[in-house]
Amino acid sequence: MESTDYLDDIVATVRQDMESHLGRGKVADYIPALARVDPKNFAIAIATCDGRTAQAGGVHLPFSIQSISKIFTLTLALNKLGANLWERVGREPSGSRFNSIVQLEAEKGIPRNPLINAGAVVITDALLDGGDADATIAEILGFMRRLADDPAIVIDDEVAESEAQTGFRNSALANFLRANENLKSKVEDVLKVYFNQCAIRMNCRQLARAGLYLANAGHDPLNHASVTTPFRAKRINAVMMTCGHYDASGDFACRVGLPGKSGVGGGILAIAPRKASICVWSPGLNAQGNSMVGSMALERLSSLTGWSVF
Ligand code: GLN
Repeated sequence: MESTDYLDDIVATVRQDMESHLGRGKVADYIPALARVDPKNFAIAIATCDGRTAQAGGVHLPFSIQSISKIFTLTLALNKLGANLWERVGREPSGSRFNSIVQLEAEKGIPRNPLINAGAVVITDALLDGGDADATIAEILGFMRRLADDPAIVIDDEVAESEAQTGFRNSALANFLRANENLKSKVEDVLKVYFNQCAIRMNCRQLARAGLYLANAGHDPLNHASVTTPFRAKRINAVMMTCGHYDASGDFACRVGLPGKSGVGGGILAIAPRKASICVWSPGLNAQGNSMVGSMALERLSSLTGWSVF
């Protein structure tokens, strides 16, 4: 892919402007593999719909994509079930923490949206559909490899294993969903798939490439594959905008003005509709569990490019 001076200058400026902030925030420490990541890491990669790229920082360094995976499983589940999916999960911002339990009880086992953990577990269950956990993990990994155009993408087994060992809240959510008949497969199978999807390792370049279909109405602009319908891509972007940063989604929309999805590994995937897919990575998190410097970098990028949808 060719590069462009204009975007190269912008990402270089963003990186420079973040220099004095590097290391801010708190790296996720609920599992050792995340806790030992250097908080000073920073990377930004842009892939445009017309095939250009721009990047700065450690764009080749892989990190745990964590909740960014929820965007891709949502795409697969919408392709599989269509609008029926919305009978099992809502599409309203939660205003609660990503792994909150209390709302799920009040709302009788229908999670607020597919991007909080409870909703993502339902989405994973929809993909699993009573089938084989390993086959579903392979389906998700294969999807990521195709989207990123890179067969070398793998799952970090250490992360998947530690997620399982410490996943008591996710296990509680899954059991509660099952008690409310909003989980069809065995709890252990759903959790196995969920922990493995969170443990996929990718770098900023790969994630920016993988998200391009969302910037281009569901159609991969580079290899011309139809990934999802324009209608569904619109829905996914809307849910990213309203729910992609949990109880900080409003703040992210105000500051950045782009659909975005964060993960506790410190990555954020953001979509500039019709223009580009962007991935930033900086492991230090803010109080809501979103990358602190990553959000600042996207705010800066949005103001330099004028890509905010507002
Ligand atoms: N693996 C994490 C969890 O399920 C993912 C959360 C996140 O990235 N926000 O708790």
